[in-house]
Parts: sequence; C-alpha cells; structure tokens
Amino acid sequence: MLPVSTDSSTTRRAVLKLGGWALGSMCWGRSARAAVLSDRGSDSPPNQNLDRMPKPTPRSISWGYIGEGGPERWGELDADYRLCASGQRQSPIDLTAADFESASNSMNSTNLENAAGLESFAVLERLEIDYHPMPLAVTNTGRTVRFDCVPGSSLTLGDRRFALKQFHFHCPSEHRFDGVAEAIELHFVHRAETGELAVLAVLLRAEAGCGDRAEVATLLDNLPPRTGDRIGDPTRTIDPRALLPDRLDRLYLYNGSLTTPPCSENVSWLICADPIAISTAQAERFSDAVAPNARPLQPRNRRRLFGSF
Ligand SMILES: [Zn+2]
Repeated sequence: MLPVSTDSSTTRRAVLKLGGWALGSMCWGRSARAAVLSDRGSDSPPNQNLDRMPKPTPRSISWGYIGEGGPERWGELDADYRLCASGQRQSPIDLTAADFESASNSMNSTNLENAAGLESFAVLERLEIDYHPMPLAVTNTGRTVRFDCVPGSSLTLGDRRFALKQFHFHCPSEHRFDGVAEAIELHFVHRAETGELAVLAVLLRAEAGCGDRAEVATLLDNLPPRTGDRIGDPTRTIDPRALLPDRLDRLYLYNGSLTTPPCSENVSWLICADPIAISTAQAERFSDAVAPNARPLQPRNRRRLFGSF
C-alpha cells in the first residue's frame, strides 16, 4: 500500500488503488466503523415502469472488519480481492517461538538443506533502518489512522533499499506470538522502486505500572476524529525512531501479503521480536478511538520463518 506522502493527484490515485492495505487497519471509532459498510447499489423505487429502469447494478459492499464486508468475505467482494481467499502466502500469521529458523539453529541437517534460508539470515544481518523526524501529517481513512512520511527515511534489506512511505496502526495486533495478541500493532510501510513492499511491524504491549510513552502520546493527541479528516502541521514533528524497540537485532522475517484487500503477496515482513511497552491508559485511549481492525490469523502453509537471533 502505499502511499501517500504528498497531495499530488498521482499519489492519491495510488493510494486509492492500494488502499486497503496500508491503511490497513486500525481500530477506528464508531462513526468510521459505520462508514466502512456502504451500499452503492440502487433499489428500484416502487410503482415505476421497470422496463424503463436501468438494470440494477450489482450490490457493492466495501470491505471492513465486521458484517457483510468482514475479513471472511473479502475474497468475494471484488475480483481484485481474490487472493484474500485463495492466496497461500497471506498475512498475518502466528509467530511461534519454537518454530523459526535462525543462524544459531541452522546447523542442524534440516536447515542446511536449503541455502535460501541461510541467505535470509545474511539479509537480516545486513538490515539498516534510517529514519528521521518528520512533519506531522495524519489522515483518518475510516479503517485506520495513517501517518504520511516525507522522503528521506528508508530501510535497507540486503541489497534492496525501501523508502518509508507511511505508518499506521491495528488494534489489537494482527501478528501474534504463540497465539497471544498485544494491544496494538504498528506497521511501517516501505516500498522499493521495483514496487516490492517491506513492512516493519512493532507490537505495543499495555503494561500496568508503565508510564506514558511520549511519542505515543503525540500520536494519540493527533488522531483525526472523523473519516476523511486530516491533520497536517509542519511546525510539529514526529520521530518514528521513538516508536522502535531498543533491540532491533531481534527480528522475524517471512514472506507474506498485505493484511487488507487486495491482499497482494509481495510483502517482506519484518517483525520486531520485542514489543514496546505503553501505559494501560494509552492502550485504552487507542481502543476508545479506534474500532477493532485486525485481520484474523492466516495459515502459514509451510512457509519458512526466519529469526535474526
Ligand atoms: Zn497494516
């Protein structure tokens, strides 16, 4: 998904096309939740000559997280969404600690059979995250809150460089560790010039006794209340580095998809193994502001899961 760090019409088109994704999901408020479902079909009014009436258009349902447009129906809503139902490399997945391959356990015979896995370990060792503070630009898409990024921040994975386009949230988390979800999941969305995507995911854990996290407080203070609302303040900055855990050398890597329609399977997922802690009050503010917007877990289907530790 992409998008959107400028207001150019070109960029807006890109956003609309990929829309689901990025935005993926967040937990938005009641009004936005209601807006997720729409009926663009036209019912014929009574007592009119049906011969003159245009054929009714197929009922169109927008994707969302509840009801007719919910995740279990995404694959049926649009031909472009078929991968949501038929894809074999979908996201999110459960990250089972006992079931990943790493440099430390790769010397067993099973892992040595596949050189690709060893290459992935090497890629993780050459991960570079180069983020910088940026002006505040936030949009309530109705499905998530999206923070658009100005050019200059990037992620390098092996020999591939991905530009940071935007970041957004899901409530509760989409990925899970051993079946356990955290309060929030933050997705940093990057795109390479080739169109490949890389998403860096950070889970936020609500912990009793934990104080407010300053950068999270900035996010919470700038959540646009209604669908379509946008807050742009070039005099205020947000520093994405403050939303990362201390240990960036503890990462999972797997190949997956967008977690929103069209569920395209061109995403390299990097998930920080260590959640960052936020206060329970901050977690409650998120859940008050955003309706649940996490796609359910998808089958792993024998995909390999790599760890950098
Ligand atoms: Zn997302």
